Amino acid sequence: MARHGGRGWHGRVIAAALGVTAVAAATSVWTAQAGQSGEASAAPGVSARPAAPKAKPVSAAIVHASDKGAHAVNITIDDGPDPVWTPQVLQVLRDNGVKATFCMVGTQAQAHPDLVRQVVAAGHRLCDHSVAHDTTMDKKSQAYQSQQIVEAERQITKASGGVRPMYYRAPGGAFTPYSRKLAASHGMRPLGWNVDSKDFEKPGTQAIVSTVEGEVANGPTILFHDAGGDRSQTVAALRTLLPWLKQQGYAFGFPVR
Ligand SMILES: [Zn+2]
Repeated sequence: MARHGGRGWHGRVIAAALGVTAVAAATSVWTAQAGQSGEASAAPGVSARPAAPKAKPVSAAIVHASDKGAHAVNITIDDGPDPVWTPQVLQVLRDNGVKATFCMVGTQAQAHPDLVRQVVAAGHRLCDHSVAHDTTMDKKSQAYQSQQIVEAERQITKASGGVRPMYYRAPGGAFTPYSRKLAASHGMRPLGWNVDSKDFEKPGTQAIVSTVEGEVANGPTILFHDAGGDRSQTVAALRTLLPWLKQQGYAFGFPVR
């Protein structure tokens, strides 16, 4: 989509990824402990909680670790749902028996509630990716940040039939201490990434595959996209990468909360 396009956004994504990686080391002790904590929400198939109870607060530290331990990956899929690409991504995940985390843009969720429900029904988890995907959110007022996070949470939860997003990923990684605390107080763990597949740039399927294969040792959380343009390379790359990751002995998990 046009609002997602352009090099400016992608440049910010790279910068944010580096920053997020730096934070990873500082929070590693905490995230190891976080794996022990209880699971609050959203069993797939448990639908229709019309007045969803207030979510249990979680840590405000940006998480990267996997609930499946050290030799695992977290597949994260951002910017959808999209009527063309989300069903194709869901099919690849289904074919490989892999569960993923979908970071949804609130307006996209509102426009495609059927897709949000398909994601939940397949056992994947939801993540709040703000209303408008403003990658300069970290430069905006707290009132704006709050509106972007809380309204998207509402849009996604309504579209899903009452299943709450369990994570918050700032667009372009533009977190602030305030936005992390706010999301955490709503039960949404701030979610970073370790490996940017760079699929957003459409570098070619093999380039996406090579990037992930070359960088997977950096950490478990891998970033892909199911919207924001033609994502056929992403779908094809996942079809190669998911079996490869399995062959390498990686388990597939969710980010810890
Ligand atoms: Zn995004």
